[in-house]
Amino acid sequence: MTRGAAMDLQGILDTIFHEMQDRSDRGIVADYIPELAQVSPEHFAMSLCTADGQSFHVGAAEVPFSIQSISKVFTLALALGRLGDQLWTRVGREPSGLAFNSMVQLEHENGIPRNPFVNAGAIVVTDAILAGHAPREVLGEVLRFIRQAAGDDDIHINHRVAKSEQDTGHRNLALAHFMRAHGNLRNAPELSCGVYFHQCAIEMSTRQLAQAGRFLMGGDPAARLVSPARVRRINALMLTCGHYDGSGDFAYRVGLPGKSGVGGGILVIAPGRASIAVWSPGLDAQGNSRLGTLAVERLAQATQWSVFG
Ligand code: GLN
Repeated sequence: MTRGAAMDLQGILDTIFHEMQDRSDRGIVADYIPELAQVSPEHFAMSLCTADGQSFHVGAAEVPFSIQSISKVFTLALALGRLGDQLWTRVGREPSGLAFNSMVQLEHENGIPRNPFVNAGAIVVTDAILAGHAPREVLGEVLRFIRQAAGDDDIHINHRVAKSEQDTGHRNLALAHFMRAHGNLRNAPELSCGVYFHQCAIEMSTRQLAQAGRFLMGGDPAARLVSPARVRRINALMLTCGHYDGSGDFAYRVGLPGKSGVGGGILVIAPGRASIAVWSPGLDAQGNSRLGTLAVERLAQATQWSVFG
């Protein structure tokens, strides 16, 4: 594989940007959270931080967007730090093959969600770190972790987006109540979901998100927030479950671990090489950024970065 330093990464990003500018098949902006429906599908940004400390950007890389489900990576890292492998008694590690907010599987599997990246699984993870603490404290801890990972304190929750999801989040509340009925939720569903809605409403630019992902690329001991063994496992889950029922297709097309959010962002890790963030708000049928996926597919083609050799 080619080393980052030997490649014209800025040139590669510029080429991708120009191709994306010309495309009209931008997907559909999420509208089930009313605040997210306000975002223009025209935005595009991509940022890349290499293991040797360089960074490259293209497009609206300073514009904050709603990270939504990408927050699940950070809460998983926190929960594993707190509970270790005990977490896996409450949530599985298998791809779901179903939509991120699906209910049917949970019924078949007695309230144990398939993995920490579907909504039910992420609500359990948040419930685990909540563990009797005040929601405000836990959200403070999530923000601290993300700010430390990004090396940037200017990262905040958009309270309008959180409220918008709170007002319309009946499905997530239903998942939480169902898990509570099975004894797999320790806190009141309103509390765990309240924290979950707020973590999803954190806003970051692609520059901040690529920086925050550095702890997952390994290679740089300075960015080591989590042990190398745990980093490998989080990456494994991102690869197998990070795009819901689109995870197999993402692995096939991109070949790198990635986590998407319905705000149109994707965090992608090229282990040992780079942390990459892309943002294009239009989604495909699985709720993953349409152009974002295409852009990282182009990046993987151009760099030959892949976990598969
Ligand atoms: N907050 C969103 C939800 O719970 C997150 C979903 C996502 O980004 N895939 O529906």
